[in-house]
Amino acid sequence: MNIPKSHPRFVSLSIREKIVKGYDNGLVAKEGLLAHGRGEAFDYLIGEKTTNTARAAINAAASALLSAHSPVISVNGNVASLCPKEIIQLAKITKAKIEVNLFYYDEHRKKSIAKSLKKAGAKQVLGTNPKSYRRISGLDSSRRIVDRDGIFAGDVILVPLEDGDRTAALKRAGKTVITFDLNPLSRTSQTADITIVDNIVRGMKLLVSSCKKSKRKRSNFNNKKALASALSEIKNNLKRRTSIA
Ligand code: ATP
Ligand code: MG
Repeated sequence: MNIPKSHPRFVSLSIREKIVKGYDNGLVAKEGLLAHGRGEAFDYLIGEKTTNTARAAINAAASALLSAHSPVISVNGNVASLCPKEIIQLAKITKAKIEVNLFYYDEHRKKSIAKSLKKAGAKQVLGTNPKSYRRISGLDSSRRIVDRDGIFAGDVILVPLEDGDRTAALKRAGKTVITFDLNPLSRTSQTADITIVDNIVRGMKLLVSSCKKSKRKRSNFNNKKALASALSEIKNNLKRRTSIA
């Protein structure tokens, strides 16, 4: 679809088109389309812009990634469709591995995602070689498969747009978990160490530039406080837009 630039919802519609294209190209699962819709709703609530809380979380995420021993970026179909360039830039700056890891397991889709990332410039993409498959405990069948050289061995894992159960399993495995999730109430948001409540399309760009500026310093980020403040931002945004405040 050709969306006119003058359309008041141009940005949101263009992002939606990326997901639809990702679906047409076999990268995005049907369920991924629904997950995107949920994200759009929460983006509306935060005002479709990066909040101060999200900025603080992005800076904390940059420090955590830069000071990691073996950082890993976990990529699903939505993430690969929305910000392939930024995934590659982030991997380069933080020396992170890229691993395709899907909630809705599908070997063929995994390969298509890996191929698309390589086409966009990624040197190495893990997660498609069955010989390297390892299991993380506490999850059923295919949902627990990770790559020996990626998530299995990693210490700081960026898992954007992830499922709550898998986030909890990564935590139990001793990983530091960073996520992008527009819903501050999701189990993923609540379970991660650092939750960036922002659209990944905006947030990944900022994470890349924060990593460029950042030193390997420890940050005293508190995710519980950050999520409470993300909810306040939603509340304040709604108050501003209603007369019953
Ligand atoms: P859980 O509660 O188990 O964490 P969930 O019910 O929130 O899961 P999922 O489908 O597992 O839903 O995850 C999708 C999540 O990703 C949703 O919370 C949604 O708000 C968020 N999301 C979708 N698109 C984007 C996006 N572009 N940027 C950031 N977050 C997004
Ligand atoms: Mg989730």
